[in-house]
Amino acid sequence: METKREKSTTSNEMNAYDNALKQLERTADIIGLNPDVHEILKQPKRILSVSIPIKLDNGSVKNFQGYRVQFNDARGPFKGGIRYHPNVTLDEVKALAAWMTWKCAVADIPYGGAKGGVICDPKNMSLGEKERLTRRYTSAIADFIGPYRDVPAPDVYTDPQTMAWILDTYSQIQGHLVPECVTGKPIALGGSEGRNNSTARGCVIAAREAAKTIGLPLNGATAAIQGYGNAGSWSAILLEELGVKVVAVSDSRGGIYNKLGFDSKKVEAFKEKTGSVVGFEGTESISNNNLLELGVDILIPAALENQITATNAGKIKAKIVSEAANGPTTPEADRILEKNKVLLIPDILANSGGVIVSYLEWVQNLNRTHWTEAQVNAELEQKIITAFKSTYEKSKKLNVSMRDAALALAIERVGRAIQTLGIWP
Ligand code: NAD
Repeated sequence: METKREKSTTSNEMNAYDNALKQLERTADIIGLNPDVHEILKQPKRILSVSIPIKLDNGSVKNFQGYRVQFNDARGPFKGGIRYHPNVTLDEVKALAAWMTWKCAVADIPYGGAKGGVICDPKNMSLGEKERLTRRYTSAIADFIGPYRDVPAPDVYTDPQTMAWILDTYSQIQGHLVPECVTGKPIALGGSEGRNNSTARGCVIAAREAAKTIGLPLNGATAAIQGYGNAGSWSAILLEELGVKVVAVSDSRGGIYNKLGFDSKKVEAFKEKTGSVVGFEGTESISNNNLLELGVDILIPAALENQITATNAGKIKAKIVSEAANGPTTPEADRILEKNKVLLIPDILANSGGVIVSYLEWVQNLNRTHWTEAQVNAELEQKIITAFKSTYEKSKKLNVSMRDAALALAIERVGRAIQTLGIWP
């Protein structure tokens, strides 16, 4: 067991695994978690650390470091993405694996939690180098993954093509095609309809349910969205379909604002052409910080972690914050938002649409069937509504924030599974 605490891609100041352990401790206190279960959940079930030697295009060989952390599988096979990034650390991968465990449990899908990471700089690697890296990494962990063991998916700088290489490598080793061994695949290989906007769809449905609970009519309500990538741009488009006026959005180059709202699909097309939302006609520019503090009804952070902090949380005027991004709010900011009665939908609930549709992809693959987008979206909607309601009820029952309630629900469910299985031998 390592003792060194490292920086990572998820946190500049804090060690991600320390944070995950603190959350576990806080939740254990809230729910009175059985101490034996608490003891088990302090460490991942398995940590794989592998070296991945590949031939570079220049003919030399380079050894990359890769991890797969399998946190807990009491509720079902391990499930979680694979991240390629120069700042990947083992502690970060461990934390992300714990959070996947909680996310799957809140969504009540029959999966445990895992995460993978390879320390590399994919922006400076050729397609061929990335393919060789992916195939060698897959072969190194092949004995420990599979449709009933551990099902990888895309994460930062991995995509459907990466999943296709994993699927092919794993299948070559098994001797037959195993499409259900990964999710987030291209549709041609058994990927699911609706996967590309599933995270945003879940986030917007959760915001809609939150609006109902506080009596906020969505028709004519306003929203601001930080980040205009996959999660942010689809959130804008889907909110508009509900009659919400999206008045501000941003990306890494800055933000745009128009109090009358704008057409998010046109903004998306503009960003596609120019590389940024900045400069879209009929809007004024706004900084990312000011965007967060606008007097809107709904705020969706959909970019980076640690954006709502002790410094700006007191200035947040939104009634609902739906966290599409992972970890956009610091624990200190959480307390301030709670005091100010902002209804915050925590990341493990608000962005669980992605893993829910991953689960639906796996179900389709195991049954050798392919659903329509309408079928997938209907299942997703049902699961998010149920998860939101259970979390909201829990928060009322325990008199805690939605974040504490989601963790309480998740850790109780995982704990119950562990206790019922018993400790072997
Ligand atoms: P993405 O790369 O498609 O988009 C990220 C966006 O954030 C880009 O528009 C980028 O310009 C913007 N951005 C970067 N730095 C910024 C800054 N300083 N200020 C404002 N905007 C900035 O990524 P994504 O897939 O949309 O993911 C966004 C967040 O949602 C991440 O935290 C991710 O972990 C989380 N998430 C995504 C999914 C998914 O399925 N896409 C699932 C779960 C969680």
